[in-house]
Amino acid sequence: MDPQHHQLHVILLPFPAPDHMIPLLDMARLLATRNVKATIITTSVNASAFTKAIETSHKVGNLNLNLEIFKFSAEEAGLPEGCDNAEFAMKHGLAPQFVQANQLLSEQLEQYLDKVQPDCLVTDILFPWTAEIATKVDIPRIVFYAVSCFSLCAQELIRVHEPFKDVSSDDETFSIPLIPHEIKFVRSQISPNLINNKDFISKLIDSKIKKSGDESYGVIVNSFYELEPDYADFFKKEMGRKAWHVGPVSLCNRSTEEKVLRGISASMNEHECLTWLDSKKSVVVLYICFGSIVPITAPQFYEIALALESSGKDFIWVVRNFENDEEWLPPGFEQRTQGKGLIIRGWAPQVLILEHKAIGAFVTHCGWNSTLEGITAGVPMVTWPVFAEQFYNEKLVTDILKIGVSVGLKKWSRMPSSDDLIQREAIETALREITERDAAEDMRQRAKQLKDMAWKAVAEGGSSYSDLSALIDGLRSYRTQKRV
Ligand code: UDP
Repeated sequence: MDPQHHQLHVILLPFPAPDHMIPLLDMARLLATRNVKATIITTSVNASAFTKAIETSHKVGNLNLNLEIFKFSAEEAGLPEGCDNAEFAMKHGLAPQFVQANQLLSEQLEQYLDKVQPDCLVTDILFPWTAEIATKVDIPRIVFYAVSCFSLCAQELIRVHEPFKDVSSDDETFSIPLIPHEIKFVRSQISPNLINNKDFISKLIDSKIKKSGDESYGVIVNSFYELEPDYADFFKKEMGRKAWHVGPVSLCNRSTEEKVLRGISASMNEHECLTWLDSKKSVVVLYICFGSIVPITAPQFYEIALALESSGKDFIWVVRNFENDEEWLPPGFEQRTQGKGLIIRGWAPQVLILEHKAIGAFVTHCGWNSTLEGITAGVPMVTWPVFAEQFYNEKLVTDILKIGVSVGLKKWSRMPSSDDLIQREAIETALREITERDAAEDMRQRAKQLKDMAWKAVAEGGSSYSDLSALIDGLRSYRTQKRV
């Protein structure tokens, strides 16, 4: 067949955690909308996160999107049966076993790739072991980054130049060297792993993961050029990596059904949420959600409840992790805020909520998916980073894009304690600042401009659209050259 007309086949291997699976599912859909056959590999426990979305894709767009189920060897790696998702493993301190269990997929992956001979493997950054397999079966391997370019650059420069060594206390600020903006950090906002390089995950990142990224055919970044042009350029130039900015990938979900079915099933029916939001005026509702894994404590949720109540604002608040309300909810809170607030216990249809015209601001932990979804919806943010690369995303939102205010948390921690509590007064101040003060309107205007830029980027001829075309063309050329 003429190589120009051959339908490319791309295999996508997501890391089994919601925040990694959701954008890679979107990426697969995006490829399929460009006439590429896309196959997602997962294990049986995680399959439900994809099946409905894939069925909808077949129905709505007749897309060539497929699912391939591998066997997960939990027991062999010392994990309880059915522990195929990172959430359980992280909660129970089983990260090394979980990493090993995933690595045990390598044999199945090699056999599968050998059999189907696809044109490319798109893999999560957390799967460095895929590098060797891609080389063996001779296909290009692309690493998918569900993080901002700014955080990639900032983290790498901090890792290499160690500017935190120039300060003598956790409160003294330092700047990140060599980047285009003057961005101030304090030491406590930086992952201790970057400073001490001691724990399992950081050792893995520093050694195998970084190396495997460096050795890949290139990287896909879930961001768009106009959002962080300085850092997109900086990344390409300084890091010497082929990079395609194809985001925001969540924008491939156009219908309500598609938006609801990406990832975990929502705990509240979308109609209920939307009807409630429809009853509200424009830009008055706060949406509060801390993503899929951040462990906000019960006392902290209690403070948030009191801040919400005394602010008198309308809100939708997503609460996970608690068995019963007494742990975190002030007595009588829901009666007192009836009509003003909606609590979703579990999983919310986030993209759908953020896009509603009633949403005025987003209180977010600054996970990259959430941050980008907030930007894409044109919503200003109260930033509440906790760990991972969230403190960098906060700086992007507050200091570079200037579409958010920080709630003031300054300590990176996988397990926040009562010492890290943000008091109700500080929370209320941030809620008022993002909705009432003069600066709030400016932030809203800027956020709306970014939203428009995001939609332009993914539209035909836009920067993300063109980068995806370049990626697909590159894979075609690779195929042609391989056959010569
Ligand atoms: N999400 C959602 N409903 C929820 C919580 C999270 O749809 O109730 C989605 C959210 O839209 C985002 C992802 O889960 O796509 C969370 O990823 P993010 O990078 O923001 O945070 P993480 O979970 O990694 O901390």
